[in-house]
Amino acid sequence: MVGASLAGLSAARALRSAGFTGELTIIGAEEHRPYDRPPLTKEYLRGSWSTAALALEADDEPAARWLLGTPAVSLDASVRRVVLADGRSVSADAVVLATGADAVPHPLLPVGPNVHTVRTRADAERLRAQLRPGRRLVIVGAGFIGTEVAASAVALGADVTLLGQDTVPLRRALGEPVGDFLAGEHRAHGVRLVGPARIADVDRAGDEDVVTALRLADGTVLPADVVVVAIGSRAATGWLAGSGLRLAPEGGVQCDAIGRALAEGTADGASIGRALADGTADGALTGRPADGIVAVGDCAAWWDVGRGTYHRLEHWTGAVERADVVAGVLLGTPGRPARAPYFWSDQYDLRVQVAGVVAGHDELRIEEGSLADRSFLARYYRAGAPVAVLGVNQPRLFTRARRALDRTADDGGTALAS
Ligand code: FAD
Repeated sequence: MVGASLAGLSAARALRSAGFTGELTIIGAEEHRPYDRPPLTKEYLRGSWSTAALALEADDEPAARWLLGTPAVSLDASVRRVVLADGRSVSADAVVLATGADAVPHPLLPVGPNVHTVRTRADAERLRAQLRPGRRLVIVGAGFIGTEVAASAVALGADVTLLGQDTVPLRRALGEPVGDFLAGEHRAHGVRLVGPARIADVDRAGDEDVVTALRLADGTVLPADVVVVAIGSRAATGWLAGSGLRLAPEGGVQCDAIGRALAEGTADGASIGRALADGTADGALTGRPADGIVAVGDCAAWWDVGRGTYHRLEHWTGAVERADVVAGVLLGTPGRPARAPYFWSDQYDLRVQVAGVVAGHDELRIEEGSLADRSFLARYYRAGAPVAVLGVNQPRLFTRARRALDRTADDGGTALAS
């Protein structure tokens, strides 16, 4: 396993529980044992969870050799040899790529004394130390990380400005009514929403390069004591350049629909998709996957048969469920991802849960509850067919709707309709 976090640990667990008794080596760039990332913008940032609570490992974890605190710097896919930054190398019968993603840096706002991204435990600890009552926090990027940091910073008493590409955070990600609803929640908690906004310049003070204000293209000046950059993530796959594996132009290890990393120069996803569509392929097994190499979690761009594209799923549950799939691949018992993609987000007292793929929907219906009650179920449709479901503070109904959505993948859409 290269990557000692959720996907790597889940793959190790899946291999062991499927009966694998061989040697497992888990290589990690961070010196920590696997920990959970979702709390980094939530409970851990607010200080209500301890470091111990973040740990992903239980007492009965699979036996493995851990090589932590040293990143892998190269892979030769033809012989499955991984070289580490400290000069050591590991050769294996199979390699699981699970190196996750990194926060995308902002060209005008590199991480500095009071500029942060939030991807690691160290990032969250550094940010938390600067979030005190009354401090002016400007968050650049109003996606899930940005909005969750805003909610946690409000709880810590900070004065929060959220800067987005749209007038309403998450409108593009979740559709207009839901985006508007969440914007209203942030405003009601005192968050200043600014957008669409382009940063033209940054004021700095002192020798230490402390940012004091952001200057927007429209002339607005936003004074800042602390800045968080949350403009997305990119797959941590730079170390795979020259490995012989195909990397997506926008990042990510290109894989077939069951997580097998594709070798450079083999049939691309489009031809795999065509072969599937015209029935000339058995499952997603067209093209030449590299022998014994799979990728899972945030670093992996799996071929999405339904949508005919590679898709890098950056969700906690996907990393866990797909680890079972890649373990099956390596043990010669391949299955398929059984469920629709799922993620959640906690903001204030709201639990937002989403299953399916919202992008590309052409209709959104609020089908249970209401926005005014702050508790509802929304369904997203494309050409009349359900493609995603979202619940806000509706765990039971959401769970039922999610199961129905999972079934639609198998029965052509009738389950949800019934
Ligand atoms: P990661 O957890 O990123 O782990 C990859 C590991 O590989 C890291 O430890 C990294 O240091 C290591 N690595 C990188 N390069 C190398 C290398 N060359 N050699 C060795 N090791 C390397 N999902 C949800 O569904 N709901 C949420 O509310 C939610 N909140 C989130 C909040 C935050 C702040 C973040 C960052 C993510 C959140 N997610 C959430 C997403 C979820 O945490 C990720 O999908 C999940 O962590 C992916 O696991 P992973 O193991 O693929 O990658």
